[in-house]
Amino acid sequence: MSVKTLLIGLDGADHNLIDEMITEGELPNFKKLRDDLTTHEVENDPGQGNGQFWTSVAIGGNPAHHGRYFYIQFNPKTYDIQMCDDLDLPILTPFWKTLDDEGYSVSIVDWYKMPVSPLDNGVVMHRWFAHEPLTASVFHPPEMGDVAAKYIESDPIAEGFASQPRDTAEKLQDFLDRLLQRIEIKQSFYSDQIREKDWDLYIACFGEAHNVGHYFIQLDDEGHALHDPEIAQKVKAPLRQTYHRLDIAIGEMLDAAGDEAQIFVLGGPAMGRFVSANGALEEICRRVDLGYEAPLSTAETAKKTYHSLVPETMRRRLGPLARAVRRRLAGSDFKRRRFLCVPHNDNSGCIRINLKGRERFGTISRGEEYDALITEITEGVSSFINPETGRSIVKRVVNVDKEFTGPNRDLLPDLFIEWDKTETSGNFSTLISEKFGEVSQPAHSRTGDHEPFGFFWTPREFATDEPDRPADITPIILKAARQSPPLG
Ligand SMILES: [Zn+2]
Repeated sequence: MSVKTLLIGLDGADHNLIDEMITEGELPNFKKLRDDLTTHEVENDPGQGNGQFWTSVAIGGNPAHHGRYFYIQFNPKTYDIQMCDDLDLPILTPFWKTLDDEGYSVSIVDWYKMPVSPLDNGVVMHRWFAHEPLTASVFHPPEMGDVAAKYIESDPIAEGFASQPRDTAEKLQDFLDRLLQRIEIKQSFYSDQIREKDWDLYIACFGEAHNVGHYFIQLDDEGHALHDPEIAQKVKAPLRQTYHRLDIAIGEMLDAAGDEAQIFVLGGPAMGRFVSANGALEEICRRVDLGYEAPLSTAETAKKTYHSLVPETMRRRLGPLARAVRRRLAGSDFKRRRFLCVPHNDNSGCIRINLKGRERFGTISRGEEYDALITEITEGVSSFINPETGRSIVKRVVNVDKEFTGPNRDLLPDLFIEWDKTETSGNFSTLISEKFGEVSQPAHSRTGDHEPFGFFWTPREFATDEPDRPADITPIILKAARQSPPLG
């Protein structure tokens, strides 16, 4: 039994850490792959997080094509914030479905944020080991659920990552152990699947570098504001442990695949310190839009009431729901507003302009008025300073009209605001603007977040196909898979 092409997916993996560990003589299997393959650094679409990176690769198009920028998005018809699954978003055809239609046998497991339509000849497993328990696991064909259950009855972190207790070394260690267990289970499952069947393309993904980066990075990073040397003594270098475990899994999978298989590795976007002003952006936007002295909105009042009524532990679990309720309240305010911040991955803030002809109750006209407002927002948000560094909190403002063209551009917001992490030891707490005053934001449960770069390692014959952005990766995988006729 054989696999012709094996694509190893490492969501949230950091190529700088991999390089560093290889230099130190660790990660022998990553080293072997890096020596044999051509490495490409791939810049994520501007202002985007992990989900968009993987969705853009899945369809070979940027967010203006697939229309996704976060797992919950703004609905311009109702002004609600809804789960993507509940929104009428364009149906996507991922590259593995294209290959399946051509008769290739493909298996794909746990690609981060993927279209889940079944394949005629292959296997689709999604959210077997998920990030958060937002929607159920998907197994096509359904028997794959039984096969997976032979390895473990349920995900060791089935209750999700955000709700894990992490306040003591013991709890952190327990969480880490379960995380590492997931890699071991997948290693056995993937190796068996590769040995037992014939595949044109096997896509084997791991999400653990992503999760460990969001929640443990402060223990590997002595300069992190939240680094606790006592805990770091007890829970030793969790990121490094995770990459070690991934290296072992890769070794086993390469053995199973044999020398004939062509190997690709796709990883990222990398992880760094969590630095974000997303927790303050709603208030910043309100002040920039309405002025410093403007009375609190209904949504702000709702937020305060909610926080005083619901205990902190419950709030964490109810977070997404509560935010949705608050957004709905905000909707009624937004009808009167010029712009509003909408939820996004914490690596950048996200602003939607209340545009006539696009939003149901639009207040701003296209052209001069829109352009002037973009400038006003850019200057207003950039006027906030991080007192730790004395620098503006803004690294770059991404004007969506200038960066993204595609049929579904209107599903995207108008601005992504990337936060400046330069010389910061940890998350922003109080932000100060001469014009708009002080805004504080609460602590965040994450300590690490996404950086703008991922990586793609290809067999040497693809060395000249240089992928700059996620969507450039797709044609390379298609080309590799189509080198020979389908096995079927
Ligand atoms: Zn993430």
